[in-house]
Amino acid sequence: MISLNDLAVERPVGSNNNKAIMDLLCKEAQAHGLEIVKLPIEVKSWNKKYSFAESNFRQIELYPSPFSPSFSGEGNITICDTWDDVINNPNSILVFQENLTKEILMPLDFPVYFPPEHKKIYDIIQAAKPKCIITETGKHKMSGLQPYPYFEDGNLQFASAYKDCEKYFVNQSKAYIEINSECRNTTTSQVVFKRKGYNESIIIICAHMDSKYGTPGALDNAAGLYTLSKIIENLKDDKLNSSVHYIPFNGEENYNIPGQIKYLDYIKKNKMHINLVINIDSPGFCGSQNAISFYNIEPIMQDSLISKTKSITKGQEWYAGDHAMFAFQQTPCIVATSNNLFETGIHYTHTEKDTIEIVDTKLLDELASDLRTIVKQVDSQEFA
Ligand SMILES: [Zn+2]
Repeated sequence: MISLNDLAVERPVGSNNNKAIMDLLCKEAQAHGLEIVKLPIEVKSWNKKYSFAESNFRQIELYPSPFSPSFSGEGNITICDTWDDVINNPNSILVFQENLTKEILMPLDFPVYFPPEHKKIYDIIQAAKPKCIITETGKHKMSGLQPYPYFEDGNLQFASAYKDCEKYFVNQSKAYIEINSECRNTTTSQVVFKRKGYNESIIIICAHMDSKYGTPGALDNAAGLYTLSKIIENLKDDKLNSSVHYIPFNGEENYNIPGQIKYLDYIKKNKMHINLVINIDSPGFCGSQNAISFYNIEPIMQDSLISKTKSITKGQEWYAGDHAMFAFQQTPCIVATSNNLFETGIHYTHTEKDTIEIVDTKLLDELASDLRTIVKQVDSQEFA
């Protein structure tokens, strides 16, 4: 039996912890008689060391942007408040003030959703050939990070680091910057645990297994992964018409979502049709209630599904997790999370404070039991 403790360790895609947890999940899947499919993925793993800016004898720490190339050198400082400041100051050390970093930038060519305005921003930066970029950020809107990396992307050619909004660079014309950051290519897997049914329909039950760097990711999403392993166990002796793909998605927190893309490719090549996706992300926050939200599912069906559960309430729709890529393609989706995730839970996610103390395993056990009820109901009737 897998415990929350086994899972709540820093485990970005490609890291040793990530691989160890994948082995653990595979062993468990094998013990439950599931077929294990391993889809290879190429990813970058990232390492960083102390980084800083130095000018007029005062040194401040900088945090390298995840996956940034390294940089060391002196240059002219340009403080940027508008994109014109970037355009008009080529070959310098650019400091993006809060005004420029307010909107969260999608990683370059993000596979699911990449707005053309963001492409324009990357083009402006590329054309300015910056020596490096320092971004100043406040509190992140969708996690507990403060400051947070404005760039988090292994596809960028320029080095960058981030800091808080203290006006360190104002009135500095030159500075020496060291960004100590490096990436290494590694191969890992997206695993899928398959359970064969009597007909062609497929239900996906998924929870992302990776974390960000610098967090044990207990709530986000060891909690979901633990719930997934409980559901596998709960459904073990039930007869189901549908096939089930249990998927610990590997890459929800990664700029390239490598595991997700690989799996989409896999179902396309094999002409598989997905009838329902159940995504579990950040459930069981202490003091919360289990909540599920619905996508592409009739309201009457939603009420019927909720009414048979013991502890589930209806939650808000959100489009930032692994369900989004399916929901956008009109696949029916159900997402399980904590009912107050966006009010309170979010202040812990992606930080070192996201530890097992903020997760209530009793809530997760109840969720696993309720999701079993939902799967059985969906499986027993004509759906979508
Ligand atoms: Zn998550």
